[in-house]
Amino acid sequence: VDIQPLDSPPPDKPLDVVATDRACIRCSYNLRGLPTSGVCPECGTPVELSLRGYYLAFAAPEYVDSLRRGVTLVLNGILLYAVMFFGGFVLKVSLSSVLALSVRSAIWEVAMLLPTAMMLVGYWQFTRPDPSTIDREAPAAARRIVRIAIAIQGVTVAVGVLADLVRTGFSAPPTLLPAATIMSWLLGLASVGAWITQFFAVVIYVTWLARRIPDRGIVTRCGVYIWLLPTLFVILLPAVFIGPIIAIGLYWALLDRLRKHLRAIQLTGMPARFA
Ligand SMILES: [Zn+2]
Repeated sequence: VDIQPLDSPPPDKPLDVVATDRACIRCSYNLRGLPTSGVCPECGTPVELSLRGYYLAFAAPEYVDSLRRGVTLVLNGILLYAVMFFGGFVLKVSLSSVLALSVRSAIWEVAMLLPTAMMLVGYWQFTRPDPSTIDREAPAAARRIVRIAIAIQGVTVAVGVLADLVRTGFSAPPTLLPAATIMSWLLGLASVGAWITQFFAVVIYVTWLARRIPDRGIVTRCGVYIWLLPTLFVILLPAVFIGPIIAIGLYWALLDRLRKHLRAIQLTGMPARFA
C-alpha cells in the first residue's frame, strides 16, 4: 500500500489556463490561453477577477461607479426638471406684468438647460461600455442606441436654443421666416423621435443590467413598463399632465431601484435586498 507521508508537498497541480475567449474586466484584453493565476498583460489586473462571472458585483469597480454616477445624475435631473417645469409655469404667470412674454420664455428656456444637461450627461455615463462585455456587444445594442439618441438630443437642444436666442435678439428678414419655421419644426421632430427611441432603448438596457444584478423584479417591471408607460403618457396627457406625471414617477422609481443596487454593490459587494 502506497501511503504518502503527510509532510510531503502535494503533487504539482496542472497549470490552469483560461480555456475560452474571455475579456479582461478592466481593459477588454482577451485572456484566452493565459494562466488563471497570472495578471492581464495589458493592465495588470489579476486574471481570476475576470473569470468570476457576469454579475455586476464582479465587474470593474470604475464601471459600476460610472453606472451609479450616471443614473444618479439622471434621477436628480428628472426631479429638477419637474420642479422647474411646474415652478416655471407659476413664475411665468406671476411675472406677466413685469416682464415681456419673449423675455420670460427666453429665461425659462435657458434655465431648463440645466436639468436637460444633467440628464444628457447622466445617460451618457450610465451607458458607458463594460470592458468585459464590449467584445460580444451587438452593433445595435440598446446601450449604443441610447447614446445615439442622447447625441441627437444634445445637438437639437443646442441648435434650438441658439436659434431662439438669435430670433429673440434680432428681427430676421421676413423672407427667412418660412425657412426658420421649417427648420425649427424639423428640429422638434428629430428631438421627439430621439426621445421616444431613447425611452425604449433605456428600458431594454435596464433589463440587461437588471439581469446582471440580478433583480427579477426590475426585469418584470421593464417588460410591463415598455408598453404601459407610453400608453399612460399619451392617453392621460390631456388630463392636466396626469399621464406623464404617473409614467415619469414609475420610470423614476425603476431607475432608483437600480441605483440602490449599484450603491449596495459598491458598499458591500452585494446587491440591495428589498422586502
Ligand atoms: Zn486588462
